[in-house]
Amino acid sequence: MRELLSTTAERAICYLEDLGTRSVAPSIDAVARLASLDIPLSNEPTSPESILQQLDELGSPATMAMAGPRFFGFVIGGSLPAALAASWLITAWDQNSGLYNVTPATAALEQIALGWLLDVLKLPPESGGAFVTGATVANFTALAAARHAALAKAGWNVEADGLFGAPPITVIVGAEVHPTVLKALGMLGLGRSRVVTVPVDSQGCMRLDALPPMTGSTIVCVQAGNVNTGAFDPFQQICERAHDVGAWVHVDGAFGLWAAAAPSRAYLVEGIEGADSWATDAHKWLNVPYDSGVAFVRDPDALRAAMAITADYLPTVSEYRNPADYTPELSRRARGVEVWAALRSLGRIGLSDLIERTCRYARRFAEALTSAGYHVLNEVVLNQVLVSFGTPEITKRVIDDIQADGTCWCGSTLWQGHTAMRISVVCWATTDADVERSIEAILRIAAKYKGPVKK
Ligand SMILES: *Cc1c(COP(=O)(O)O)cnc(C)c1O
Repeated sequence: MRELLSTTAERAICYLEDLGTRSVAPSIDAVARLASLDIPLSNEPTSPESILQQLDELGSPATMAMAGPRFFGFVIGGSLPAALAASWLITAWDQNSGLYNVTPATAALEQIALGWLLDVLKLPPESGGAFVTGATVANFTALAAARHAALAKAGWNVEADGLFGAPPITVIVGAEVHPTVLKALGMLGLGRSRVVTVPVDSQGCMRLDALPPMTGSTIVCVQAGNVNTGAFDPFQQICERAHDVGAWVHVDGAFGLWAAAAPSRAYLVEGIEGADSWATDAHKWLNVPYDSGVAFVRDPDALRAAMAITADYLPTVSEYRNPADYTPELSRRARGVEVWAALRSLGRIGLSDLIERTCRYARRFAEALTSAGYHVLNEVVLNQVLVSFGTPEITKRVIDDIQADGTCWCGSTLWQGHTAMRISVVCWATTDADVERSIEAILRIAAKYKGPVKK
């Protein structure tokens, strides 16, 4: 086992060292070679050494270099060394991580990480929290607490009695709500299409003048960080109006919540602590390995009411926080330990530098593309840049060519009817040189499609 694990660590290190120089997208050949893995399961066992060799020789080259410094697709971070190493160690620990008394190390570390998160994200320190797989499940978890609170107020126990016959809850979202919030609402029986949708402005922010009247049985889902523009809903005014009538405000802040950690961006989340629940990702801007997201709920009792279970065989009574009282899962890996390691390795200064630096890189991309004559479609307030290279066809061809070129990787989007390339800067490992190299590649490729310059 020692030899297998050392060799594997060596393979992983070589993979990571190669990330800065390899093509960001895998080659067509490397992807085609994956077909050789598709064989019937053998009767006989296979040696772990040869399995790992095959994984590395066939799998590694066919991966997308998402962990590398020039991947700017979607909103995707890499893995900080401390978080990746912690991930290796906790995998070796293989703790079930549901109950404090059974797995004290991971439960204690997660509790500390939760406190640190509430601190750096400037959320109410008394909030409850859950370490889950990502913002999708974080939205689900927080909205389950919201559903509990809204119905408990109406005298209905939704966990016991379900939704059939329950008093109705109105759910308000913006027209730019992330689809995972709608999915979470669907899973909760609140309905993906049953929502009241508020129109948005040119940056994708909910328009206050179009906000419908609310009652106490209302959940408003606002967004901190639009996945295209990086923009923030006017949550402060929405919170005031919602709280006047006792409605619940939930914030989808998958990456936007992290603005709190950067002095120059903190104005974007000013007052966000006034909401009732928040969802964020750790595998995006905090740069921990997949899969990792966190739900926070101001009233920990509402979260526990929605999530806790008891059974005679489970030692659930504990002086300390049982992680499983707050999460949809019972058995789960201790992903909060990677969060702990990431925050500890960065410190406050490293975290604020990470957010500031990536936002600065986004502005650098926008500035370079604008001065080259291309159209940046959004106000670059955070780490997201939308750029059009002309017609939709030309923009699509530029994106395809950039992806095939391999210097960097950017995705496409349709923003309010305009085809655009989307640049998202999230990775801890990205340097000034990576940004300049990527700009050079983008401009070189886009220039091929530039029409004759008109005087
Ligand atoms: C990424 C994202 C999500 C979904 O997060 P997952 O980690 O993929 O589940 C939800 N909302 C917003 C705003 C996002 O950017």
